[in-house]
Order: sequence, then C-alpha cells, then structure tokens
Amino acid sequence: MPVGEQTMSGFVCGIDTGGIFTDCVVLDPDGLTEYLDLLERDGSVLFACARCGRLLCPPSENYKGHAHRIERPIQAANPLIGDLKRFIDAEVLFHQFCCLACSGLIENDVCRAGYPLL
Ligand SMILES: [Zn+2]
Repeated sequence: MPVGEQTMSGFVCGIDTGGIFTDCVVLDPDGLTEYLDLLERDGSVLFACARCGRLLCPPSENYKGHAHRIERPIQAANPLIGDLKRFIDAEVLFHQFCCLACSGLIENDVCRAGYPLL
C-alpha cells in the first residue's frame, strides 16, 4: 500500500531513518496524545513517538520504560513550589520521558522517589 494513502483505520506511513517504523498504519490519526501515536505493523499494535515514528512497545507494556527518563526534583517542574517538606515527607520527583531517537518529550509525570513508573 503506498505511503500516505488513507485506509479505513488510518494512514499508511513509511518513515525509515534507522530504527524508525516502515509500513505502519496510524490507528489514531489525531494522535493518542500530542506526542504519542498508536500504530499497527504486521498485525501488532505499538506505541510510537508522534514526532519521528520510533516504535516504543505494545500497549501491554508501559511506554515510559522504553523512553529516556530524566529524573529531577519536583522543584524543576515549578520553582514556585519551594520546600515541599512543608507538605509531604517523601521525596517527590519530576520525570520527563523522551524519545530515544529524536529526544522529543513524550510525557511528564510526578511521583514519589522509588515508586514504579506510573
Ligand atoms: Zn521521536
């Protein structure tokens, strides 16, 4: 099927820049999120970076585990937070998850230190 052709379920994509998907159908033409797509390739459904198309993982896995994670204190998200110890004893972290291919931001989250990925 030609690249760029619209099908009943989305668009056929053909980006191929080393590790980037080829011959995938975008299942959500509007994007799952602004930075995350859901694709179908050879009968498998996969998350992918919406910027460059790098495949991340199937929906049964946490895509954040397949991205580069930047972990910083919560104050990095907003310096106006100040001393968080006034509100909570636990260390709270600000995570940014970026695409391993294009380094674009995929997702942010906030969680307690030592907790598994949300
Ligand atoms: Zn990317």
